[in-house]
Amino acid sequence: MKYSLLFSRIVALTRFQNTRQDCEFDVIVGGGGAAGVGAAVGASLAGAKTLLVESGGSLGGAASLRGVITYCGVYTFEDPPRQVVHGVMQEVLKRLARRSAVTGPHRHRGVFLVFDPEANKRVLDQICLDAGVNLSLHSRAIRAHKEGDRLAGIVLETAGEFSEVTANSFVDATGEANLAHLAGASTRYGNAGNQLNLGSLATRFGGISAEASVTADDIAAAVAESRERGIGPFSKDRSVVCRLPYSADLVIYVASHDYDPRNRSSITEAELAGRRQAEAYLEAVRTIPGCERAYLVSTGPEFGTRESRHLNCEYRLTWRDVMDRRGFEDCIALGAWGAEWHERETFGSVMEAAPGNGFYQIPLGCLRSVDTCNLLAAGRTADGDRKAGAAIRVLGTAIATGQAAGAAASQIADIGGISVPDLQRELFEQGQTATPEQLAEMRVKPPQGSAAEFDGASH
Ligand SMILES: Cc1cc2nc3c(=O)[nH]c(=O)nc-3n(C[C@H](O)[C@H](O)[C@H](O)COP(=O)(O)OP(=O)(O)OC[C@H]3O[C@@H](n4cnc5c(N)ncnc54)[C@H](O)[C@@H]3O)c2cc1C
Repeated sequence: MKYSLLFSRIVALTRFQNTRQDCEFDVIVGGGGAAGVGAAVGASLAGAKTLLVESGGSLGGAASLRGVITYCGVYTFEDPPRQVVHGVMQEVLKRLARRSAVTGPHRHRGVFLVFDPEANKRVLDQICLDAGVNLSLHSRAIRAHKEGDRLAGIVLETAGEFSEVTANSFVDATGEANLAHLAGASTRYGNAGNQLNLGSLATRFGGISAEASVTADDIAAAVAESRERGIGPFSKDRSVVCRLPYSADLVIYVASHDYDPRNRSSITEAELAGRRQAEAYLEAVRTIPGCERAYLVSTGPEFGTRESRHLNCEYRLTWRDVMDRRGFEDCIALGAWGAEWHERETFGSVMEAAPGNGFYQIPLGCLRSVDTCNLLAAGRTADGDRKAGAAIRVLGTAIATGQAAGAAASQIADIGGISVPDLQRELFEQGQTATPEQLAEMRVKPPQGSAAEFDGASH
């Protein structure tokens, strides 16, 4: 059954119908970013009474709060690229395309689509509501308690008021693994040897003519020249260069700082340092032809943490698995993004593509908590080693691991465990995964009605 048909199926579902109060759910998803939206919709479409809790005022996570405006991981880097993430992701792209709020695929170090962040917020609202997800915004999970090896409930805080919600199973899509950490489930910060992907503050510049071509090399040259003139402080020299649909605003991810997002002094210092740098980058951008009248539209609003805590799961996906094109019997999603690593010491970055620029399998094991049987990871919290984690964290893949985690959580709520074949069937019915034969047939197609290729983003 295809994804859109499932919306009609949800209306007819009786399995989990209103037999419990508003504070009791089958599945609770913590965090309303890409992974959380994927998880909540995946759980709800699978029949679970689902609550999605988000501490911010909108869905989207980094796409709404940290200026991340491209969907990576949806397509392979092959020529032509193949789309490997469907399901909820495809629904997002379709609805963005109806609003002319997403570009066709671009090639840089991988293949990505640029979207308008305001349209994205509305699309995510609608997708969740259409799927029957219960939404709770401005709701920060501040406590979680375990009973034996199960997570039993979480306490939410909204403007100093507290409420407790319970569920049979949970997905931690908070990016920082906050649910797992609060519950005392097994987590780790980064990877062995203090390895963490560097964070960056997104900067968005307006006042740039739509005709002006700005490349990563232009930014690097402008920063080098400005440094010589004594302007600063700067950290990164280069970044992917994105031009937004509608406004042609320029978004880059250069202002960076080495900080610990779990430590309030450290993250405060990062925010202050990032804003200081943003002003220096503005001066540099203004030296590029066509950018003389540039101004800073926004920073962040929050500093962008690429990596924080992961859940320790039954399996840790390794970059060796990716390079060996390892097949997993419990494959529940496909990855396509390479190992994109931003160095904390040098502020440089490297990207290592998957073999043949193709896709790789992601097993359910790297979403299942090692010590809490009804808790799943999704998105940034999923378990991968340094390079695999750096690859599977991106938005497109986060939606895919989220959808899988949500559907798995629904099964736990329903039958007390996970049947892998049933889960794979459910995901196939939700349109998320495809058979290898189908993948071989797929060739890149921009979503119907999408905006024309956006030249400004090429670099
Ligand atoms: C600077 C930068 C540039 C990037 N560029 C790209 C790019 O171009 N393309 C791409 O695809 N990816 C990019 N990424 C990676 C991508 O943004 C993340 O990996 C992705 O957002 C992960 O999605 P997520 O849903 O797991 O986490 P997040 O997007 O971080 O969402 C987590 C959500 O959980 C909420 N939350 C946290 N704690 C709680 C709590 N206690 N209670 C309730 N809610 C809570 C947060 O408010 C947030 O909304 C970039 C990342 C950074 C930092």
